[in-house]
Amino acid sequence: MPEPVDRATIEALRADFRARLSSSATDRDLQTLNDDFLGRRSGTVTGLLKSLGTVPANARRDIGQLVNTLKREIESAIHDRRAALASSRPPADAVDVTLPAREIPIGRVHPLMRVRQQVEDIFARMGYEVLEGPEVEDDYHNFEALNMPPDHPARDMQDTLYLNAPIAGGTWGAHMDPVPEAQVRAATLLRTHTSAMQIRYMKTFPPPIRIIVPGRVYRRDSLDLSHTPMFQQCEGLVVGPGITLADLKGTFEAMLRELFGDVRVRLRPSFFPYTEPSAEIDISCQSCGGDGCGTCKRTGWIEILGSGMVHPAVLEAVGYDPEQVTGFAFGIGMERVAMLKYGVDDIRLFYENDLRFLEQFPV
Ligand SMILES: [Zn+2]
Repeated sequence: MPEPVDRATIEALRADFRARLSSSATDRDLQTLNDDFLGRRSGTVTGLLKSLGTVPANARRDIGQLVNTLKREIESAIHDRRAALASSRPPADAVDVTLPAREIPIGRVHPLMRVRQQVEDIFARMGYEVLEGPEVEDDYHNFEALNMPPDHPARDMQDTLYLNAPIAGGTWGAHMDPVPEAQVRAATLLRTHTSAMQIRYMKTFPPPIRIIVPGRVYRRDSLDLSHTPMFQQCEGLVVGPGITLADLKGTFEAMLRELFGDVRVRLRPSFFPYTEPSAEIDISCQSCGGDGCGTCKRTGWIEILGSGMVHPAVLEAVGYDPEQVTGFAFGIGMERVAMLKYGVDDIRLFYENDLRFLEQFPV
């Protein structure tokens, strides 16, 4: 037999409920409280109501009223507490001003574009005009006018990407020296250098000229640590009366020191069909200061660009008089500069667009 229900039991239950209500802070707490006291099966108050039969008949009516009063008290207290919780809760679309701010990703200048801008800035300050030109070129401007006629062995130096179908005239930038239809000089190849634009410029404007032509060029190279089939060149040309090799050297001593800091510059004999004489330009290795290390292959020098005095045949091809004017030309690879400046040892990183790489460069 269970203990008969009496006033003391009811008061103890009330005190228990008050204590638990004061520590209920969530809807879930209130639901548990409701189940524990009023649950249909095991609620303690429900249990009291079920056991009223054990109360002596003379006290049953009073005890029954007390239990029912407690039940209504509990129902109303839980209801009030739920309402209070609901009214203090922020609306679903409320802004929580205490949350940390979301980080907004900030774009960066690509390292190759950064180098190109620096190179353009340096030459612009020296009075050079910056030009762009078409990436699809015709054979005449890319090769022939640059002293590389169809059978010239020098064409083997540059593996060229040809189009299946020629693009007839009107390519962007071709407003300079447009190709006469009769000569069938439709664009048939992806330019192997930006020098083609030098030809267009010289055929359009008289000397003196000072230009650089930055842009994408294409060769049939397979992708490896130091080659890509598309890369960024900046080629340049100076033509005027009395331009000498000393001007070339002075220009690059100034330009390369601005680009790389305190380096030594040297010229080394080389060969290009469109310049004579031709020279590779080296800078002293910054990793070892010229003593010799892995970066410079133990030579102390790093090859940075190709250059030379413009071949008289090129000047003649555009209608300039090699007796009146001379000039120098050069080509510098943006990837090579960026690899040296930023210590990148794999050229492919510049084209993979991996944010882990790109985010290492300042905004
Ligand atoms: Zn070195």
